[in-house]
Amino acid sequence: MSQEFIIKIIPHSTFVIPNSFIPLHLKSIKNLSNMNFLEEKILTDGVIKQGNILKVDNFLNHQIEIDIMRQMAYEFKRRFKGVEVNKVLTIEASGIAIATLLGDLYDVPVVFAKKSETANSTDDKYMSQAYSFTHKQMNNVFISRPYLNEGEKVLIVDDFLADGQAMHALIDLVHQAGGEVAGIGIAIEKGQQAGGKTLREEGYHLESIAIIDTMDWETQTIRFRKQPEIKLGKTNLKAI
Ligand code: 5GP
Repeated sequence: MSQEFIIKIIPHSTFVIPNSFIPLHLKSIKNLSNMNFLEEKILTDGVIKQGNILKVDNFLNHQIEIDIMRQMAYEFKRRFKGVEVNKVLTIEASGIAIATLLGDLYDVPVVFAKKSETANSTDDKYMSQAYSFTHKQMNNVFISRPYLNEGEKVLIVDDFLADGQAMHALIDLVHQAGGEVAGIGIAIEKGQQAGGKTLREEGYHLESIAIIDTMDWETQTIRFRKQPEIKLGKTNLKAI
């Protein structure tokens, strides 16, 4: 029997929602077990856009909801338990918030790769390239040399994993510096695109908190891959 489930997303833009009001569609998912906090948040606040894009601007990509970021940081720490991490790496801009909270938990520096549209001098930089799924263009991705070092064990995190272009560029940068990829943490993996499968086949320890197997713009439906249930509730970074 399939362990997956389909839920209908009602775009939040169709509601006028005062802050204290729990949207009706959220009530309908409250009884469902097997959902983690991020999947619930996606159902509550996500909007599926044409072109296989999930918009999560109100908690992840534009406005940042700190408690969700904290919960993700805790969850990555739990999933990478026992893994040595000397640095957390992400790519600008949306990965920075999660990376910062995770860096706080590990008490290690956080580095974000920068993007540029033109090829600059590569003298003091590690440079790679990634095709942007959302902007449909090739980006140079770079990190100044002093911020990635030989022998460092680097945990890479990002908001989305789709075709894996951004992630492969980050991995390339770590390898150019002589570092080691300790693991890869993704908030939302789009499982219908090849990135996750490829990275797992390449042997990376990849953990995605929510994995979307299918989503449909016309019906606003989304199918999550079965994940362990994680109900973290409110968190307090200073408490551990
Ligand atoms: P990839 O490089 O794996 O093809 O795509 C990952 C990057 O594209 C992420 O850093 C993210 O910024 C962006 N991205 C891919 N799919 C989506 C999506 O459905 N929604 C949003 N908001 N960003 C996406």
